[in-house]
Amino acid sequence: MEPLGDWRRNKFVSDISSDDFESEVTVAGWIQDIRNLGGIAFILLRDRTGVLQLTAIKKHHGEDFFRKITTLARESVIVVKGKVQPNEQVASGFEILPCEFKVVGVAKTPLPLGVVDKVEADMDTRLDSRFIDLRKEEIAAVFKIRSTILAACREVFEKEGFIEVHTPKIVATATEGGTALFQAQYFEKKAYLNQSPQLYKQMLMATGFDRVYEIGPAFRAEEHDTTRHLNEFTSIDIEMAFADEEDAMGILEKCVYNAVLKTREVNESDMRILGTDIDIPALPLQRVTYSECLDIIKEGGYYMNWGEDFPMEAMKILGERIPDFFFITKWPTKSKPFYTQPFEDNPEICRGFDLQYKEKEITSGAQRVSDVNLLKRRLEEQGLNPKEFKFYLDAFEYGMPPHAGWGLGAERLTMIITGMQNIRECVLFPRDRKRLVP
Ligand code: ATP
Ligand code: MG
Repeated sequence: MEPLGDWRRNKFVSDISSDDFESEVTVAGWIQDIRNLGGIAFILLRDRTGVLQLTAIKKHHGEDFFRKITTLARESVIVVKGKVQPNEQVASGFEILPCEFKVVGVAKTPLPLGVVDKVEADMDTRLDSRFIDLRKEEIAAVFKIRSTILAACREVFEKEGFIEVHTPKIVATATEGGTALFQAQYFEKKAYLNQSPQLYKQMLMATGFDRVYEIGPAFRAEEHDTTRHLNEFTSIDIEMAFADEEDAMGILEKCVYNAVLKTREVNESDMRILGTDIDIPALPLQRVTYSECLDIIKEGGYYMNWGEDFPMEAMKILGERIPDFFFITKWPTKSKPFYTQPFEDNPEICRGFDLQYKEKEITSGAQRVSDVNLLKRRLEEQGLNPKEFKFYLDAFEYGMPPHAGWGLGAERLTMIITGMQNIRECVLFPRDRKRLVP
């Protein structure tokens, strides 16, 4: 293995064009394949933008050079200085005739997982060797798109006057009093990993920050093993003051719109690699009330009682009948968490909403309760002890404006935009019921 020294890549594969013909470039990456025909050898070099061909010619390069470059183990990392030459027989239209190269990272053989093998490895094998799995262009494409989605959301937040915050992930109280929490030992005290920044982002509404967003981890000790649940996911959260649920939905639909728009612009080739496409949603997104959903579900032949949460079977019927992204609004108050504001003129229903993509929930949000007495009552109604929420309730006692917000699962949105069927495809190192390593 050789030190990198002052060698630096000056072109990615995709940056090389006919403008570079006959000039020298420095490229770097992984050796994907070597085809040695005896007197001539073709070495495929891959970087994050594509694959190029290095052509080694025994007569031209000499025995030693030729042997050294053709006997490298697949997936070793090299840096190459070479001349770009037109070559009509190569898909890219050019090849590189290497002048010098350095081996900066040797790969052991055999590889735990192939990068370009035709045989599909199963998910566990792939995740065990995720660092190699991520070298595959169709796997990496998902994460390039994920990055665009997060940037697109941030762009909306910045434009709309939100400031980025980070709230604690080690906490003393459960957000919703649920049981889906991981416990942690915090010196001599018992602590939890936070399942949502809900309580903290609401407390920030009492500070005058007005509009905050947080993109951070959320932990849920969900026992079930599904294709849309993780035990650690990235939550995109906002909270805004002097606002109701419609204002919050307005920000959300801008985020979704911008995420799809930017993906189509920036990640055209990644979408092509994935063989997927998604239409830019028309705004405003459709709003369907909970009661209207029940009617649609009934027409679809499934019966459920008012007040129940939609089981998957019901969601599927809804997803078939309402196109793409839509909001479900005006939920039964008892089906939503204690901090959801009931309608003043009909407290049976509340200002909570979900954003759906077909049968998949991607966001829950609401106008929140900002009246501390109502909040205490709602806590008690849901079997929670207001004393345990003192730190949170205090923020409502000294001037709390009305506010609204939502939490959007980054992996759920990525799943939808990339067309992935399993949420594990949308997180680098998934944490699920069985997996804690790597
Ligand atoms: P679901 O009903 O799908 O389990 P939820 O209603 O429990 O979700 P919320 O508490 O409303 O989830 O969280 C807000 C958003 O966070 C969800 O709409 C979803 O996008 C995301 N989310 C929640 N739980 C998970 C999870 N276990 N894995 C991945 N994303 C999640
Ligand atoms: Mg929800």
